[in-house]
Amino acid sequence: MFCRSCGEEIPNDAVVCVKCGRATGVPIWPAPAVKSGESSGLMIAGFITAVLAPIAGLIIGIILLAKSKIGAGLGVVILSIISWVLWLAILAS
Ligand SMILES: [Zn+2]
Repeated sequence: MFCRSCGEEIPNDAVVCVKCGRATGVPIWPAPAVKSGESSGLMIAGFITAVLAPIAGLIIGIILLAKSKIGAGLGVVILSIISWVLWLAILAS
């Protein structure tokens, strides 16, 4: 294509003219790339939460079991395992 400002022939995907430096009107693609970076960051945060939260739950459950609070301890351990399985199912889909 040609620059709208100076008429210089420039690559079709050029964001700015190589000769005069004016914007060509081609959308700047790094913006969506940043967005996908954020979503992959969210995926990582979700994955960490998915792995760590049930482990924290398991530890709390084991502490409760150690303090002879069998009912509460087993409940927390079972909930931790269920949430772990659910998170892994969500992340795997
Ligand atoms: Zn130009």
